[in-house]
Amino acid sequence: MPVLNSSGDAQYEPRISAQPQLMAETAPRRARAFPVCANPRCASGWLQLWRKRGVPVVEGGWLCSPACTRARVEDLLRREQAEARPAPPHRHRVPIGLTLLTQGWITHQDLKDALEAQRKGSRLRLGEWLVAHRGLKEEQLTQALGLQWSCPVFSLEKQAGSLPANIVPRLFSESFGFVPLRLTASGRLYLAFEDRIDHSLALAMERMVGLQVVAGLLGATEFREAQRLFAQGHFARARLIEAGNLELLAEAFSRQIEKEKPAEARLVRVHDLVWLRLWRDMESRDHAQAAVSGIEDVIGSVVRFP
Ligand SMILES: [Zn+2]
Repeated sequence: MPVLNSSGDAQYEPRISAQPQLMAETAPRRARAFPVCANPRCASGWLQLWRKRGVPVVEGGWLCSPACTRARVEDLLRREQAEARPAPPHRHRVPIGLTLLTQGWITHQDLKDALEAQRKGSRLRLGEWLVAHRGLKEEQLTQALGLQWSCPVFSLEKQAGSLPANIVPRLFSESFGFVPLRLTASGRLYLAFEDRIDHSLALAMERMVGLQVVAGLLGATEFREAQRLFAQGHFARARLIEAGNLELLAEAFSRQIEKEKPAEARLVRVHDLVWLRLWRDMESRDHAQAAVSGIEDVIGSVVRFP
């Protein structure tokens, strides 16, 4: 592991970043002010103080060298891999047809006809078929889905201003079928889905942005309008990395971190993708006002070749 910096000069100018992990209280008093490398297997010891770098910082921990960045990123990727368990399928207590019937929005005959159409292989889902063929209102279907999922139903009518496009890569919104609707002053992020709530995505968003996520539904027409509005937003720069295995992905991610030297970076798995977000400065971490120029997204996927 190199002790000198990349230019080969030994420099005794440790720069202390705003969020290094400080030495524990038990550390010698003289050393307490210096940051400690966040890689638990860091081998550079006190020599790290000679390194002239206050960044990068990954998940709040300063990293003293490219080798430590690489090791830390691999640890984080393994953490995400270990946490990836298939979510148990959501069990609705009441089927959608029965919910609609109970609400008095369809008749028994409507339900029978809709089920018959399903049996005959209709490409429309039951609720969609009832909207198309039995005059069920789209709002009623959305209300019924909200009852099924025990989640709020949103409306675009209360939508003021542009959608927070900088909060998530556009690819995620399009791939996973959701739109971030708004951020509140109290630190809540409202995510709108069309007909089902993706709880694992909502949880990943919560971990990444550090805000309370409120997941709800939008009716089909309003959802398409929200997608259109969202697409007009300003997005952070995003790059896609496909790697043959986890080690190669760790290599690519850490190279990007070493290149950009972010003031903070976070990594979460979203289904089969890994999302790495880099913030150039701590002001960019303030989501409500973050300029997209201060944020970079790197989306990784592991491709296993046969
Ligand atoms: Zn280190």
